[in-house]
Amino acid sequence: MRTPFIAGNWKMNVTDKEALAFVDAVKDRIPSSEEVESAVCAQALSLKGMQEKAGNTDLRIGAQNMHEEDHGAFTGEISAQALTSIGIDLVIIGHSERREMFNETDERVNRKLHAALAHGIMPIVCIGENVDDRDAGRATGVVREQLEQALQGVEAEQVKGCVFAYEPVWAIGTGKSSHPEEAGEMARTIRAYVHEAYGQSAAEAVRIQYGGSVKPENIGDYMADNDIDGALVGGASIKVDSFLALLEAAQ
Ligand code: PEP
Repeated sequence: MRTPFIAGNWKMNVTDKEALAFVDAVKDRIPSSEEVESAVCAQALSLKGMQEKAGNTDLRIGAQNMHEEDHGAFTGEISAQALTSIGIDLVIIGHSERREMFNETDERVNRKLHAALAHGIMPIVCIGENVDDRDAGRATGVVREQLEQALQGVEAEQVKGCVFAYEPVWAIGTGKSSHPEEAGEMARTIRAYVHEAYGQSAAEAVRIQYGGSVKPENIGDYMADNDIDGALVGGASIKVDSFLALLEAAQ
């Protein structure tokens, strides 16, 4: 049995004051992590304060990105060590906005994934096709390729602790969500790849989220699919009531 996992990706849309107020408002209303795991991934400068406020509750605080090196002359970047030193053990890797706007390649995603795993940080690895790939019938091939590249050199035991977020790029922040059946098919493609490469127990263990215009009104349609274990949610994770409604629907 895989525990459902709902993670918010706030991108660059929430100030520190708002982030802290959010944690205050939700922390006593978070369901037990045995029923549904919940997380919000915030801007780096808010992580420490949020982590302190969340304390021993079941709300997990995550980063939206990290650098693959442990330290060095990388102005403006954040290391895995800096994250773990303030108790952060969750990170989004390879979000399509980073791939598109910050030239993050599959090779870089792979290095970041190794760094996260080496430091005991749970990675949410984002993969998904863009609209041209979809229109050309290449969606499945692109997703498999991204997965294969991301996982180069990763061991089966490590894969079990990874979360994969299938996020079709055309569905992110557009209000155009993927049809739940198509999202379910892609989740099966991802699980089948993990099965081929790492065997049955890894395939059964990995959690696969869907992401792309998920909201309280449609999350149930995705969660109804046995291969979709949760959601990575942008816009609808920012407001307290909406976030709590997502968690409620995922239980
Ligand atoms: C995301 O940022 O990963 C995302 C899925 O955004 P939205 O839910 O707003 O489409």
